[in-house]
Formats: sequence, structure tokens, C-alpha cells
Amino acid sequence: MEYDKNNIFARILRKEIPADIIYEDEYALAFHDVNPQAPIHVLVIPKKEYVSFFDFAEKASPEFVYGFTKAIHHVIKSFDLRKDGFRILSNHSVHGGQEVPHFHFHIFGGRPLGRMLTPP
Ligand code: AMP
Repeated sequence: MEYDKNNIFARILRKEIPADIIYEDEYALAFHDVNPQAPIHVLVIPKKEYVSFFDFAEKASPEFVYGFTKAIHHVIKSFDLRKDGFRILSNHSVHGGQEVPHFHFHIFGGRPLGRMLTPP
């Protein structure tokens, strides 16, 4: 899939539309999900044009993968989620239910999160 430069997260990165920003560095931007599914529901997005995790894994440099991973770690620490636990999730394409075509990780926490998937 071609990267759409006008997807909503690209626009948030360009600061064209607001977001409730938690953390920012040269690799990543983290902000609260506008429609939270848990008491803590944060999105961490890379500051590069990757459509999904698959695209990121294929194209990102080792330095960028490291920097982005450290940014996620920083956000998890900032919410003190290590002890009680959390979930990291990334959706890819149709079966994954991806809505926004800019790679992102969801970080959920703040309550027991239950099973990974609802059985069909
Ligand atoms: P996904 O299905 O993984 O692509 O999820 C996209 C997520 O982005 C959803 O959880 C939305 O609630 C969230 N979202 C969409 N627009 C915004 C926005 N402007 N600010 C924050 N979160 C958003």
C-alpha cells in the first residue's frame, strides 16, 4: 500500500491538527487515543512514513528501530505500567482492522485487559 501523506497521524505529526501529546523525541510521537478502550490507551507513532509494522520492519534502519523501541519503553515507564501490566498491539490492513494507515502501536493499561481476542 502506498503511504498516504494526508492520513490523520501524518497531519498530527506535522502539527496541522491537535493531539493530546504525552511524549516526543526524534523517533516517535506518543499521544492519547481519542476513543480510549482502557483507562490508559496511548498511541505511539514513528516520525517516518511507514504504513504498518510490516512496512516498518522492512524499511527502518537498526538505529530507527532501536530509537522507536526506546520511545515506547519510555512511555510505558512514564505510566508506571511494568508491575500491573499492559498490552501492546499493532493492527495491519483489513483483517487486522487497521483504520489509520500510519504505523502505530497501541499501549493499553490501567485495568485487567482480558483475553487477547473476542472469540467469533
Ligand atoms: P487502528 O485501528 O489500529 O488503525 O486504530 C486507530 C486508532 O486511532 C483508533 O483507536 C482511533 O480511536 C485513533 N484515532 C483516530 N483519530 C485520532 C486522533 N485524531 N487522535 C487520537 N487518536 C485517534
